[in-house]
Amino acid sequence: MTTNTHTDTPPVTVLGLGRMGSALAAALLAAGHPTTVWNRTPARAGALVERGAVRADTVADAVTASGLVVVCVWDYPAVSALLEPVAESLAGRTLVNLTSGSPEQAREMAAWAAGHGIAYLDGGIMTTPEGVGLRTSMFLYGGTPGALARHRDTLAVLGDPVDLGADAGLASLYDAGLLGTMWSVFGGWLHAVALTGADGVAAVDFTPVAVRWLTTVSGFLERYAAQIDAGHYPGDDATVEVQLAAVGHLLHAGRERGVDGRLPELHRELMAKAVADGHGGDSYARLVEAFRGR
Ligand code: NAP
Repeated sequence: MTTNTHTDTPPVTVLGLGRMGSALAAALLAAGHPTTVWNRTPARAGALVERGAVRADTVADAVTASGLVVVCVWDYPAVSALLEPVAESLAGRTLVNLTSGSPEQAREMAAWAAGHGIAYLDGGIMTTPEGVGLRTSMFLYGGTPGALARHRDTLAVLGDPVDLGADAGLASLYDAGLLGTMWSVFGGWLHAVALTGADGVAAVDFTPVAVRWLTTVSGFLERYAAQIDAGHYPGDDATVEVQLAAVGHLLHAGRERGVDGRLPELHRELMAKAVADGHGGDSYARLVEAFRGR
């Protein structure tokens, strides 16, 4: 293995220089890490080489250049195709896979890595390339115990590392859940923008008020999370019954303005079912049971 003479800024290899991989390599270079890069289409390394990156001709050369190897390509089959032939060279190094995939794919890759003596971290990047390098950006990691602690300073260059523990599948699972949360928020906000916009309210006027409201909603989430873990949903703030009446007002206002009501209708259906099942006096957290398929 290459001897690391840069104790504060150890060498790093980045495999995959698409939009995200290029941003990762650029952040490492900017922080002073000797950075070796490889991409299937070599020309994409040009701008990084101008900034000091070393272009490797082969995946094997790239892998042997650093103790920490970051891979960010399209999908897991591409990762496997790249790395299986160089498994022996990866032994004793740390592989950080920032390619998006499923928890099952991540766990399979972790088992493969363990079988070859490779320390493995599976990561989820909770930002776009523009957000790489910002402390406010979360990077989720799960995998070989101790690997994140050993490379935390280097990985912190990419964004704030969030340690999810030894299960390599959790970064993908959290990633999926967080994106689901994001799409639900986008959907609710776009519906509201259409609703308020029908009466002439500009999106830029409605949105700051919506953002303040999301801070209040975050407080509800923390309160309800504890209820869900306890399996007990006291309706001491607002009951499902109260919210069922409120969603009726939203649906009415939307109908009057020709706004598509499918999204609030789904919420209404779930609330009505909870009430019909005798849970109208519970908090909104009770609806988790519907998502659990019970
Ligand atoms: P991208 O710009 O389309 O780049 C794809 C990269 O994968 C390129 O380097 C491409 O090489 C490489 N690649 C594709 N198939 C390959 C194969 N069979 N063998 C070797 N290399 C292959 O995509 P991206 O935005 O960088 O995304 C990369 C990963 O990051 C994805 O898993 C994505 O879900 C994840 N991610 C992206 C974002 C984002 O905002 N962009 C955010 C979070 C996570 P060539 O240059 O040769 O085509």
